Amino acid sequence: MRGFVHSSTPSRVIFGAGVVDGLGAEAARLDARRVLVLSGPSRRSVDRIRGALGTLFVAEFTGARMHAPVAVTEQALAVAREHEVDCLVAVGGGTATGLAKAVAARTGLPQLIVPTTYAGSEVTSVLGETANGRKTTRSSPGLLPETVLYDVDLTLGLPVDLSIASGVNAVAHAVEALYSPQVNALIDAVAHAAIGLIVPALAAVAARPADRSTRADLLEGAWLAGTCLASADMGLHHKLCHVLGGSFGLPHAPAHTVVLPHVIAFNAHAVPDVTAGIAATMGVPDAAAGLAELIGTLGGPTSLRELGMAEVDLTEAARLAVVAPYPNPRPVDAAVLETLLRDAWHGRTPDARVPSSPSPR
Ligand code: NAD
Repeated sequence: MRGFVHSSTPSRVIFGAGVVDGLGAEAARLDARRVLVLSGPSRRSVDRIRGALGTLFVAEFTGARMHAPVAVTEQALAVAREHEVDCLVAVGGGTATGLAKAVAARTGLPQLIVPTTYAGSEVTSVLGETANGRKTTRSSPGLLPETVLYDVDLTLGLPVDLSIASGVNAVAHAVEALYSPQVNALIDAVAHAAIGLIVPALAAVAARPADRSTRADLLEGAWLAGTCLASADMGLHHKLCHVLGGSFGLPHAPAHTVVLPHVIAFNAHAVPDVTAGIAATMGVPDAAAGLAELIGTLGGPTSLRELGMAEVDLTEAARLAVVAPYPNPRPVDAAVLETLLRDAWHGRTPDARVPSSPSPR
């Protein structure tokens, strides 16, 4: 028998093709009159958003940067104040969403989010920010966006490599939820539904990137995976990726893609039933090997080295990953994590080795 504490975060989700055109009505629903649109420098879809908002649009800020640097948030805050905005719209991946949350955290402004990747941040009340080379997270109900508009059409052009990496990022939310202390029948069902939608869609999207039905599966799976992230404490995998991104500047989704098969293999002995269940949903004999093979077949990334990580930094990354405790089914220490990271750095095939056995350097 298992005990658990379950929290569901309230969110209004609008899902479909072309739903972004209803953004003006959603803003009006929040009594917004002056909307600031936040995005990354590419301004992808910003003109469409602007058209959908009509006269409610008053300003845009296109400087969103990955891992939410506080200095960038301050620039966006200055724009928000200058234009006396009363609502935020973010369009883009987790980077744009993170900026909206960071501005909302400091102003209380409502947020409408239009996600164009599979990061899942839009349904969590968590914000990760970086300052002075360290990433810290905070969580508060006030950070949760008011409405999420998942418009499949805005995802059709997400390049295949980013789609695979972002999709694996979403799989990681579902996997870690399945062995979190909060796991229950609801999380279990949602996480398996997410994995069951996302994993087959990864290969399909690589073959037909603009196929709307495949993109819809990926996006719906990403939403479900995001709700797992919102309801369950994450373990070793998220901790490692948090350190790799926040302290060593690795790109978020590609880092998840390299690390996830290694963490699944690492935890496999501690949660054999969970790992077997993940493999069954994926339709492969072994979850870690199956995921690693899929990622490799679809073009990677498969090593931290190719993401620009310096080998000399692995020891420090392992040390940082054990500074604060977090739930994980298998105990961790800096030495075993360095072994895991070294394997991931080389791009070795993940295996469920005994934790104390050193890997070749
Ligand atoms: P991202 O938002 O930086 O997007 C990756 C790249 O994809 C960018 O270059 C972007 O311009 C491009 N892109 C996005 N949508 C596109 C589209 N439809 N077509 C073409 N290109 C497109 O990366 P991400 O992985 O989505 O998000 C990473 C950030 O989100 C990190 O800062 C991470 O910490 C944060 N995050 C937070 C949470 C949370 O719950 N707080 C969860 C997941 C991620």
